[in-house]
Amino acid sequence: MILKQPQFQAYSGIHIAGIEEKRFDIELTNGRFTKVAESVPQQGEAEAPQQQLWISPGILDLHTHLAWTDFDHADQLRRDSREIEGMQAEAFAATLRTGVTTARDAGGILPATIRHIVKYYQQPLRVQTSSDMLGTADAKGIKHLEQRLNEIYATGAGWVKIMATGGLGAPTEKVTEPNFSEAEFGFIVRHAHANQKKVLVHTWGGVTIDWSIQAGVDSIEHGMFLTRDQSGRLAESGVAYVPTASIYRIAADPKGVLALNPVICDRAARAADAHATAIGYARQAGVRLGFGTDYATPALHGYNLQEFDTLLDYGLSRAEAWRSATRDAAAILGSGHELGQIAEGYIADAVIYAADPYQAKNADQLRTSIVTVITGAQEADLM
Ligand SMILES: [Zn+2]
Repeated sequence: MILKQPQFQAYSGIHIAGIEEKRFDIELTNGRFTKVAESVPQQGEAEAPQQQLWISPGILDLHTHLAWTDFDHADQLRRDSREIEGMQAEAFAATLRTGVTTARDAGGILPATIRHIVKYYQQPLRVQTSSDMLGTADAKGIKHLEQRLNEIYATGAGWVKIMATGGLGAPTEKVTEPNFSEAEFGFIVRHAHANQKKVLVHTWGGVTIDWSIQAGVDSIEHGMFLTRDQSGRLAESGVAYVPTASIYRIAADPKGVLALNPVICDRAARAADAHATAIGYARQAGVRLGFGTDYATPALHGYNLQEFDTLLDYGLSRAEAWRSATRDAAAILGSGHELGQIAEGYIADAVIYAADPYQAKNADQLRTSIVTVITGAQEADLM
């Protein structure tokens, strides 16, 4: 159930996910937490046998593609616009149902589409977007880039996405080669920051990670060929790392929901192997990690919690994995002062569970334990 901006809601004796052996009395008023206090047990009174509940902050997915309906863009172009719009609205709904209340769209969705879906489909998902992405076709010098950047700003995007290297479409031995010159890359970052836009960089590894650190981008994405040395410098620089780890395991499985051809499956398998090492380096160095899925098709929207399973398999503790999806993710978006925590004054984006989320065996169990997803924002805040 989705509970939109409740005027007043109270929970007594609820557990906060990740805090053991304490219970809390929590109140929400007009979409904000107005009381978060430890419960005082009633003296001499046996506790009524009632259902226990847990609360966590709403989950932030820092790398989605809510506008895409197909793995191959050519397939989307064959659909009619009504059908695409309906599928996009369903992507919003599925994402919310699984407890994700904030998404950063890493390319594809325009602010106008977000407004439309929030208003006409009544889907209160908070979305930050980069609109269109800058890739190989834009490596045509500074003048061209300046024009493209101005077009992106004109859409109302808050982020600029740089496709700094190839991805699954590139052979493994060439995938870390830069798409832009160092001068072009530096120009994009400086221009975006001068216009109060944040920058996220798709990079599988290599020199573009160094450029990202030097230029002070806001986050790098994927980064499976990150080295130990780079992770130390990444930590020092404060640039966040959003690995999007689960999608490569999914893509590597020829019988999985993406059912890709053997060449692509093999590249994805190599990426997944490298990811476990890269995430280990980042964790040891103290890099700020952000939870992101890169989910982009109807078979994946709504299954975002699978990223937790992969992060845990790759060595994160429960607390680290949850922090990457809540407090740290909010900080990466520049919203750490009002999102990502169960705290008085914070926006009441939250998930209520019937079982302890820190004990969930896997994403399926976690997803099915969700009782209510609460969104604190007013419609106007999301538009
Ligand atoms: Zn992506």
